[in-house]
Amino acid sequence: MPTIFSHVAVPIATSLGVGKIVSRRLFFFATFCAILPDFDTIGFKLGIAYASQWGHRGFTHSIAFAVLVALLAMCFARLLKSRAWVVFLLTFIAVVSHPLLDMLTSGGLGVALYWPYSNERVFFDYRPIAVSPIGIANFFSARGWRVIQSELLWVWLPSIILLFTLRGMRRK
Ligand SMILES: [Zn+2]
Repeated sequence: MPTIFSHVAVPIATSLGVGKIVSRRLFFFATFCAILPDFDTIGFKLGIAYASQWGHRGFTHSIAFAVLVALLAMCFARLLKSRAWVVFLLTFIAVVSHPLLDMLTSGGLGVALYWPYSNERVFFDYRPIAVSPIGIANFFSARGWRVIQSELLWVWLPSIILLFTLRGMRRK
């Protein structure tokens, strides 16, 4: 995975880009949703195989899962203090951006993007994001620095461009 800091870049940039239609609550909720798919790493502790559809990068990394979470979130639109379609769209973008970013990483298994239709693990052909080392000690190493550099270039820079593009469109 890209580091957790980078997964949240997409919902943060989108929310700040579109402005007030995203409430503060929805902003934090969507940010959380961007890391939600990786809660499947609990499968490692439960003895679920990595390659299983229930394992890491399995069903939680699918388009179907993103739609499901977005539909569920929509039911709580009032609590999230935003309009239902805004909740749906932002939640969907936040969740689905996670596997799409994982597909750009250079390690591990691919993601089950098309689950339940197919359990095939997929990657993009071009994978410029260095996979992040596990554990804090490894993170502050030369490899950790390489990961940060690739994420700044391939996640944060496009996110910042997205933010200003959305702002520009809003002004018009
Ligand atoms: Zn992931």
